[in-house]
Amino acid sequence: MKTTFQNITGTFDILPDTYDADGTAVPSAAAWQHVEATVRDVMARFHAQEIRTPILEPTELVARGVGMLTDIVSKEMFAFERGDVHYVLRPEVTAPVMRAYLQHRLDQRGGVQRLYYIGPCFRAERPQKGRYRQFHQFGAELIGAEDARADAEVIALMLAVYRAFGLEAVTLRLNTLGDAGSRPRYKEALQAYFAPYTADLSETSRRRLQTNPLRLLDTKDEKERRLLDGAPVLLDFIDPESRAHYETLKGLLDDLGIAYVEDPFLVRGLDYYTRTAFELESPDLGAQSALAGGGRYDLLACELGSDEPVPAVGFAAGIERLFIALAAQGTALPGPAPPDAFLVALGDEAARYVFRLAQELRAAGLRVAFDLKGRSMKAQMREANRQNAPYTVIIGQDELAARRAQVKAMDTGMQAGVAFDDLAAYLKGPVPART
Ligand code: AMP
Repeated sequence: MKTTFQNITGTFDILPDTYDADGTAVPSAAAWQHVEATVRDVMARFHAQEIRTPILEPTELVARGVGMLTDIVSKEMFAFERGDVHYVLRPEVTAPVMRAYLQHRLDQRGGVQRLYYIGPCFRAERPQKGRYRQFHQFGAELIGAEDARADAEVIALMLAVYRAFGLEAVTLRLNTLGDAGSRPRYKEALQAYFAPYTADLSETSRRRLQTNPLRLLDTKDEKERRLLDGAPVLLDFIDPESRAHYETLKGLLDDLGIAYVEDPFLVRGLDYYTRTAFELESPDLGAQSALAGGGRYDLLACELGSDEPVPAVGFAAGIERLFIALAAQGTALPGPAPPDAFLVALGDEAARYVFRLAQELRAAGLRVAFDLKGRSMKAQMREANRQNAPYTVIIGQDELAARRAQVKAMDTGMQAGVAFDDLAAYLKGPVPART
């Protein structure tokens, strides 16, 4: 069959079966459901409750929330306008969650809000393995607590998700960014340090040195990385309260037996972080090594118009990258679920009965499939096999007359006559073992 249309580069279809897209396996819809169910299960253990915000948000929310100088806002937004309204396809979910928190006065629910989300995000990046234009994130936000235990809990929650998938070979990198005052002081120090080397910097880095010098810290350029060895470190510019908070956090992580690597150059690409910043890496991801990242963002609420800061900490994780890491460690994922039974009809009259029977069995809670193309018995049996149905229920003229179907257990080939009225109960029962 011919088609004129293809999905947009950097997006992909999720199909009933796993398939290959440009050398990367796109897992089956059942595998996606399994991942989502596991994430929900872990979230529930931490008593995080789901929040669903729209895909469309006001562009201004993302511009202010994520930060004008970030790559996301300056070059990766899918934004458009209709009339006077400026829309953006959400590139991340933290700013939308904070918007919803403020808008609906979720603080009035009392205590700390432990919220989680799962859903698509959109960034106009150059597509490659592990980097897409529509991708999927899950994440959690703990809103309302300044306590370093909130930071430790978010990190523990994030790790618990990966552990639930048996992914243990991950590296947690940790840093503190200090309060709002720390970074301007540090930025100046960085600018002063790099000033004599301007000629050695790439054009992008030269621009960043002026606009957002922290971005130089995650440069991939070898020469620039060597320059970083002598560069000032953020930790030396941090206010005493943030330092104490960081020390407490590290102590809590030690209490939980969570290993981390301190990385003074970890700043993350989003502007809204204060104090804690962390990233989770997997050796299986290649260039796109980050499975997840997060941090504390006490000032985001103010960026969004709140007259007081709202202490909050969260993480966001990419589902596609989780799948890549799972594939690398050879984790088997579920494929499409088989029906409980495949109904096989011989002849028009039987086909008519099978159509009605399917309805009855489905109403009784069974998963039932049957042929809709009037194919031969052999083709119907092949289809039942292909779908991995444990039973086929075969009905022809004789069975109609006796009101008894031939039920074949596909695994053993054993066949039994079962009265039409008993079919639902029989199919729900255990598949008879080979004798
Ligand atoms: P960020 O919001 O940039 O911190 O991203 C959080 C996580 O989302 C990353 O660690 C990745 O796992 C995932 N992620 C971010 N951008 C993309 C993308 N373009 N394609 C696939 N996954 C992404």
